[in-house]
Amino acid sequence: MSLPELPPEEIRRIVEETVRAIQQHHNPGLAALVKFMGFEAVEWSGEGCTITDLAGNEYLDCLGGFGAYALGHRPHKVVAAVREQLDRLPMSSKILFNKPLADLCALLAKITPGDLQYSFICNSGAEAVEGALKLARLHTCRPGVVAALNGFHGKTLGALSASGRDIYRQPCEPLLPGFTHVPFGDADALRKAVNAGTGAVILEPIQGEAGVIIPPQGYLPAAREICDRHGALLILDEVQTGLGRTGTMFACEHSGVVPDIMCLAKALGGGVMPIGAFISTAKIWKVFEANPLLHSSTFGGNPLACAAAIAAIKAIQEHDLPARAAAMGEYALRRLEAVVMAHPKAISEVRGRGLMIGVEFAHEDIAGLVIAGLAQRRVIAAYTLNNPKVIRLEPPLIIDQGELDTAIDALDQATGYAMSLLEG
Ligand code: PLP
Repeated sequence: MSLPELPPEEIRRIVEETVRAIQQHHNPGLAALVKFMGFEAVEWSGEGCTITDLAGNEYLDCLGGFGAYALGHRPHKVVAAVREQLDRLPMSSKILFNKPLADLCALLAKITPGDLQYSFICNSGAEAVEGALKLARLHTCRPGVVAALNGFHGKTLGALSASGRDIYRQPCEPLLPGFTHVPFGDADALRKAVNAGTGAVILEPIQGEAGVIIPPQGYLPAAREICDRHGALLILDEVQTGLGRTGTMFACEHSGVVPDIMCLAKALGGGVMPIGAFISTAKIWKVFEANPLLHSSTFGGNPLACAAAIAAIKAIQEHDLPARAAAMGEYALRRLEAVVMAHPKAISEVRGRGLMIGVEFAHEDIAGLVIAGLAQRRVIAAYTLNNPKVIRLEPPLIIDQGELDTAIDALDQATGYAMSLLEG
């Protein structure tokens, strides 16, 4: 959509007014943080990997809405599907059969691994996690949940109880009882924590907000085996890793592990609609038979969001975005290794799988300055929520090599500049 033709002083006024309204009526701390990071601009439009602000400045989006924009901004096929649904029936009667919902659930059964067959469609990642935890409780009738330290599952009270970082948990305590946290990637610790009272183990196949942490090769198979031995359900939270991000459709495919319950959100909406899902087997889903309204949501499964998700999945398959993410991710990691070599005092490690990449700095102050440097170079990036030393690169999976080069060159320059400031 073309930019409004506004004089510079009018643009300045709108930016100031927007920041003031965020400060006074939404979240003052967030306004300060975003300003500090150097992103004092009002977004106007998006296309592919690019966001344009009100003043016409273009930003390369390497944050991708925390990994949500697999198909980039405003992917045309998803927009067209949503528009077609919008002109007919955006929201469901909630009583007649909802075909987009039915089609999406059937499609999810087809693309998810193993015998995952039934889906509940909700509106966000946290809601998907809430549903998964509730389903595990209903099926096993056990109160215990084992989760991972530094794991991130969302910020509603149940999801927060599973998340593993104290700065978000402590202000809200007491959280739900029965949750234990163990170090991620440590199968022995998991083995010791799971017992006859454990209803579920909830893990991310690759931890996102912890700083893009890939577990050792045998970890997820060990988690599967431990759950099976104790009759606990394995919930894999693929909200961030799912739908191609890590180079396979689902990150659990890297280790061949099939969960009892899978959570999805983010990329499922095709960057156009908010949507989440939890998916499980026919055996586990039986708990909903006696009372089909045991779990429900007014807007969950609405036709607009389901139309977006169907179009998104088809586009991800059609363009083989998992393979593209794998290839582009390998290219980016190779180039980033050279950036690490150029700044050995600043960057301690780069790691990732597919286009889920973390750049770990020696100190969070360096990461903060680099984010501001990226903002000056009009590249959008941010640190991971549970590890401020790590800048995450999670661009749309449609990103091309030239755009990746732009982002990595900017990171290189911003790191050099940050170090020159810190070293005086
Ligand atoms: N689970 C994981 C692995 C996530 O990364 C996130 C969000 O970043 C969530 C759950 C929560 O999703 P939402 O922000 O849509 O509630």
